[in-house]
Amino acid sequence: MAKNVALIVAAGRGTRASRYEDEAPKQYVHLQGKPVLHHVIQRFLETEQIDHVLTVIHADDEQAYEQATSNIDSERLLAPVFGGATRQQSVYAGLAALESHQPQKVLIHDGARPFCSSDLISQVCNGLNQHTAILPALPVSDTLKRVEHNIVSQTLDRSNLWGAQTPQGFLFSDIWSAHKKAKESEKDDFTDDASIAEWFGLDVHVINAETDNFKITTKDDFEKGERLLNKGVNMRIGNGFDVHEFEPGDEIILCGISIPFDKKLKGHSDADVGLHAITDAIYGALGEGDIGQHFPPGDPQWKGAASDVFLKHAVELVTKRGGKVANIDLTLICEAPKIGPHSLAMRQFIANTMSLEIDQVSVKATTSEGLGFTGRREGIAALASALLLL
Ligand code: MG
Repeated sequence: MAKNVALIVAAGRGTRASRYEDEAPKQYVHLQGKPVLHHVIQRFLETEQIDHVLTVIHADDEQAYEQATSNIDSERLLAPVFGGATRQQSVYAGLAALESHQPQKVLIHDGARPFCSSDLISQVCNGLNQHTAILPALPVSDTLKRVEHNIVSQTLDRSNLWGAQTPQGFLFSDIWSAHKKAKESEKDDFTDDASIAEWFGLDVHVINAETDNFKITTKDDFEKGERLLNKGVNMRIGNGFDVHEFEPGDEIILCGISIPFDKKLKGHSDADVGLHAITDAIYGALGEGDIGQHFPPGDPQWKGAASDVFLKHAVELVTKRGGKVANIDLTLICEAPKIGPHSLAMRQFIANTMSLEIDQVSVKATTSEGLGFTGRREGIAALASALLLL
């Protein structure tokens, strides 16, 4: 059974950080194209010590949660549970749902802290080998004032003051008992779990937290977050161009889609001119030559090959460099066949092959106004751009 579980608390309604009116609660607002909650869950799944992740969500957010996690393919992510009116009630609901899994350790984390490092998660986990509760915190560096009606009434001594972060780690049986006792005692004003543990009589051991592990609270925090995610990212751009000639046949393969036609495309592989252009754009962005170099046309093993093999290879090279593809834009140039009716299926095929979202892939088509070889219907040309983040 599960040993170490992360409990993500994401049932809040906070929309203060939203960039637009009527926008979703902040944990579902996008940061670099993915909801904040997606980033949070990924951080925990990327940490080896975590066996399972359970998220507590608001009953109104079921669909938003589905969307936020649709790309996460992990059996370690448990089905979400609904939270209550307060943070404390939401954690209670999460712990109750975890009871049957009999976890040894539980790390409770705010759904609006997407920058917690795997290292910090590991430290909290490992700290529980020696201590009953672990709290990551940072000493307060600003001088603290008590303010009433915009007038300072007192300057506080900050020397022993620390700011508490999450994930806060506990032995499951301890924190579950503490929460149950708090509920029985009708104590419902705890704002974090370390304070419940403290009230229950557990020793809470403090470890050094991380300045980047802030909680997204305001709109400015999103901008700070975008800057953090872009830190150290190297943008690379590449283009690819390919042409294949028509020959007698009954279908063409274009961007992985079979289109009935009175000709086929001539080539050593399946002659998928669209996928070849994209593949070359990626090789170009990496400075890794071109498709002919990686898959020599004279090599019999590529005869008739489905061209997604080439595209997958190019994407693998990106992944090996620790990078990802930001987007692809492809233009197909031909008089016929008509591309429009197939372009959605083509985008879907490319997105699936490259593990991208469909909105990261564009497939456009144009004619050459009857001019040149495409105008004379002798073949199809394709032009692709790829942007990589390394
Ligand atoms: Mg080609």
